[in-house]
Formats: sequence, C-alpha cells, structure tokens
Amino acid sequence: MRLSRYFLPVLKETPSEAQIVSHRLMLRAGMIKQASAGIYSWLPLGYKVLKNIENIVHEEQQRAGHIPMLMPTLQSADLWRESGRYDAYGPEMLRITDRHGRDMLYGPTNEEMITDIFKGAVGSYKDLPLTLYHIQWKFRDEIRPRFGVMRGREFLMKDGYNFDLTKEDALHAYNRHLVTYLRTYERLGLQAIPMRADSGPIGGDDTHEFLVLAETGESEVFYDSEITDLTFGERDIDYDNVEQCAAVMEEFTARYARTDETHDEAEFEKIPEARRRSARGIEVGQIFYFGTKYSEALGAMVDDGKGNKVPVHMGSHGIGVSRLLGAIIEASHDDKGIIWPEGVTPFHAGIVNLRQGDSATDAACETLYAALTNLGLEPLYDDRDERAGGKFATMDLIGLPWRITVGPRGLKNGMVELTSRRSGESEEVSPEAAVARIAEIYGKSA
Ligand code: ATP
Ligand code: MG
Repeated sequence: MRLSRYFLPVLKETPSEAQIVSHRLMLRAGMIKQASAGIYSWLPLGYKVLKNIENIVHEEQQRAGHIPMLMPTLQSADLWRESGRYDAYGPEMLRITDRHGRDMLYGPTNEEMITDIFKGAVGSYKDLPLTLYHIQWKFRDEIRPRFGVMRGREFLMKDGYNFDLTKEDALHAYNRHLVTYLRTYERLGLQAIPMRADSGPIGGDDTHEFLVLAETGESEVFYDSEITDLTFGERDIDYDNVEQCAAVMEEFTARYARTDETHDEAEFEKIPEARRRSARGIEVGQIFYFGTKYSEALGAMVDDGKGNKVPVHMGSHGIGVSRLLGAIIEASHDDKGIIWPEGVTPFHAGIVNLRQGDSATDAACETLYAALTNLGLEPLYDDRDERAGGKFATMDLIGLPWRITVGPRGLKNGMVELTSRRSGESEEVSPEAAVARIAEIYGKSA
C-alpha cells in the first residue's frame, strides 16, 4: 500500500476523551472512530488488525477440529424466554420490536440459538463430539462503555460451543479449548494467564478466564509469580488426546491464579510471600463447562446408544476479538506509539522515502516495494511529500515492527537503513539484505 493512496486519518492532538493509552493510540493512529457511545467504525488500519486477529483465532480453532459457522446478530426473544434468560439478562440486552410487533434482540451471546440449531439436527451420540463456533458481533448495553474497544457496547467475539455425550467428554472439550486459547494468545504476542473465575449469568461450575496483565485492566487478580514463566511454545498437540490436553490444563492451572471473585486469601497465603502477586488484568477470553443447563431447558437430547434420551453436556468458550486490539496495545507500546507484534501487524514493514521526487530514492523505494510484495508481504510505503520527521512519527505511531529508510546519502554507498520498532536499533544494509531479513522474520523465502 502506498500511503498517498491510503486512508489513514492520523490525529495530531491527543484526544481528550480517551483515558487509557490503547484508546488514545487507536484514535490517534486512525484505526477507529466512535460512532456513538461504545460503538466504533473500524477504519482501514484498525480493520486490518482486527482481520489478522480473526484469522489467527480461526486457524487455531480449526486446528483443533472446531467447525466455523455464522449465526445472525438479531435473535428472536422466544428462545430466550424458553431458557429463562430473557428477563434475567436485564438492561444489558438491547431489545427491539419488528414491524409485526415481534420481540427481537441484538444477541449478547448465542447459547440459546446454537442449542436450538443443534437440537433440530442432531439426535444421536454418533454425531458427537461436536464443537461449533462463530466470530460475530455482539451487543451488550454496558452501563459504562469506556476505554474504546476494550469495553464497547458493540464488540466482536469468537464464541464456540461444545456438545458432548458425557461430562467426561465435555471436560475434554474444556481442556482442548484451553490449549487452543493458549496457542492463540501466544501467536498474538500476548501472555494471557488462565485464572479460576466466577461463572456469572452463563452459569456452571468450571470456568477459567484468560487475563493479560496490565495496569489499566478492569479485573483484580491474584497469582503465584511462577505462572508467568510458563509458555506454550511450539508443541505438537493431538487435540483428540485426552491425556495430553489434560496435562496442559494441569500445567497451566496448578498454580494459584484467580480473579477477585474467586480469590481465597487463606489459599493465597500458602504461596511463599516472595511469589505472591496482586495486580490488574484485562479479560481476553473465558471458557465454561456448564453441563446440561441449556440442553435441559431447550430440550437438546440425544440417544445415548443404550436406549435412553439424555441431555447433552455443553460448554461455551469466548474470545474478545475486538477487545484484543486494546489489550495488545496496552501490553505493547511506548511513548511514540504502538508496537505491533509481528503476528498481527497491519503491514509487515514500512518504507520511508527521505527525499520524495529524487529519482534515485524513488526508484530504490519502488524496487523494495516490489520485492516485498512479490514475497507475499504487505509493505506500507510512505511516498508522501512530507518532512522526514513527520514520516518517522507516523511510522512510530502506527507501530509497524520494521522500517526501511531510504535516503540519498545511504544510497550513494548502496545502503538503506533497517530499523526495529521494538528495540529502536538501526543497521545499514543493502536493499537486498533488508528484504531478505524481513522475509526471514515472516517466514517467507526470499
Ligand atoms: P466482562 O467481565 O469484561 O464484562 P464478560 O465476562 O461479561 O466480560 P464473556 O461473556 O465472558 O464476557 O465474553 C467473552 C469475551 O468477550 C470476554 O472475555 C471479553 O474478552 C469479551 N468482552 C465481553 N464484554 C465485552 C465488551 N463490552 N467489549 C469488548 N469485549 C468484551
Ligand atoms: Mg467473561
């Protein structure tokens, strides 16, 4: 993409309405624009990152055999009356009446709808296990939408639902989801710690929230500092292997890590004092096992192969896809702007032309642009007729991990400058070497 032809409405001033850094940076970098309280338009740069996050979420779900689909945002109230949640959900639910006077709602979640889909189509244990998921917009009329996309009213969520014959099978699905989530967050460049949590209005016994530690987080958390040493890394996991998934669950949840709702001071004090931590965290996901709560209420029964009709065991599993942009920025920025992890960056590298209109620098930039594009990478070429300082400030603000700077002085010696956004370090290299380095970083063969 050439910046001169892109739509990147960068703000010079720091918007006064934004209280936290991720919200400020997303507005300043021209990623989002508020449409009304807690509702945002995703401008091209923000949309690109959102799509990148979505893609990673899809890949990791499908790696585990979970099946993508798409349910609508608008739902009929009837199913929610059947489950008993129509009244229970309260003012957070946006209720709508259509022209025929039928009660509708903008879905805050999809347990009822998926259970209804399931029950109309599956009647036998032979069709289990089954996990369906979608990535769809949700609406919750939050009393205090704030912090930009972190607590929106309209927000994008991945929500997945497992259907299993027995509790044991459903607990395997729970563990399997934990594994997929660990992998997902790591690919997003985040450390998200599973913590024992409270099930709230979804109901159920087993639930973990995934928290990214950050001062601006809305959750209060307590944990054993040893937990921050754990990484999932590159492991070969067989998602159908019950023991393997259970072992990962055990490894990542054995140590004390809880949100304030389930915090137990006496248990906490059993950890050596030097390892006790209390901090704040951003909830980026949650997994639940809730047994037969919805299948009983909505009559989702299967034949168990022994002549009985039994309600299926279910769980639901959510990732806050749009909130993740805020969480990633909270975890990865400096005073100049965002620092995108390579896994989600909107463009792989920036090209800065220090003397636009100079035939040699223009040609060198074009060659770099073509070379990166031909490798299947997306460079952002700042080809505007602007001062170098302004171009650097924009690149730093929007946070591309790598920048190639092309100027007449370097070019005389056949050199360009390759700069890491994270470390700030620059090196003089040939244009070919710069391309080769970037290709290597993103796993492309030059
Ligand atoms: P919270 O406690 O933050 O209100 P929740 O526990 O009600 O969230 P879940 O039902 O667990 O939310 O939804 C799954 C995920 O969706 C959450 O882990 C979070 O990342 C995201 N999410 C929930 N509410 C919002 C919101 N208002 N804006 C953006 N993301 C949200
Ligand atoms: Mg939650």
